[in-house]
Amino acid sequence: MLKAGSTAAAPALQLEEVRRVHSGGCDRVTAPAGVTLGFERGTFTALVGPSGSGKSMLMHCAAGLDRPDSGRVVLDGVSLGSRSERELALLRRGRVGLIFGVHRLQQGLTVYQNIAMARRIAGHRAVPQQVDAVLRRLGLCAVRHRPMSELSDGGRQRVTVAQALVSHPAVILADEPTGALDAPSARQVLELLRGYVRAARRTVVMATHDPVAASYADRVIFLRDGAVEGEVHRPTAHAVAERLNARP
Ligand code: ADP
Ligand code: MG
Repeated sequence: MLKAGSTAAAPALQLEEVRRVHSGGCDRVTAPAGVTLGFERGTFTALVGPSGSGKSMLMHCAAGLDRPDSGRVVLDGVSLGSRSERELALLRRGRVGLIFGVHRLQQGLTVYQNIAMARRIAGHRAVPQQVDAVLRRLGLCAVRHRPMSELSDGGRQRVTVAQALVSHPAVILADEPTGALDAPSARQVLELLRGYVRAARRTVVMATHDPVAASYADRVIFLRDGAVEGEVHRPTAHAVAERLNARP
């Protein structure tokens, strides 16, 4: 049974010594390499590190999309370790919003239909007023009835953010959500994510290699070679950039 294990005091997401070994070809890579982190409710955290530092793998383990070789993931009070694939899918459906790139969008459907579909997949009715409210917040009203194929890369990325927000999940996991966006669109998305954390006391974890994006978070975790290297609270873009460039 998947009980809503959430107690007000428990972190929204807890990782304990999470380790995942990949053996591809002739070498073995460990990422994450024994990561322990807690993400409290109502916080916005950025995972920062160079390409290959393990940000995406960490997010996949946190979402139950990949199983760690050892360690524990507790999502909204539920330990993921012994869950079946079906249970994990149900758990994600109710509690997690994923912003993991544009490949999940249905190219043949309109912007509105893609967002309504995400809400139905999360187990809710797609109420037009609620879909429209999210479209407004993301500046997508003008393209509401356009097929995805007519949108720019930035427009498509904003639809993925709308899909995650429309069901009010406890935890949003966002992997490079501003990677394809120009500066004004990126700012809009980051302000939306920050606003979501503040207004609804929800939890956002965002992987990024961009110091400006990271500066919107309450806390920045630095990753290198799959391991946590340090953290900064109330970061500035300058402090994040300096720290990223401090080591080879
Ligand atoms: P980031 O998102 O920080 O760029 P990733 O999490 O994508 O980093 O990758 C972390 C490390 O794990 C990299 O060295 C990558 O090559 C390796 N890796 C990821 N997935 C696999 C896989 N399926 N097989 C082998 N190595 C992998
Ligand atoms: Mg990545």
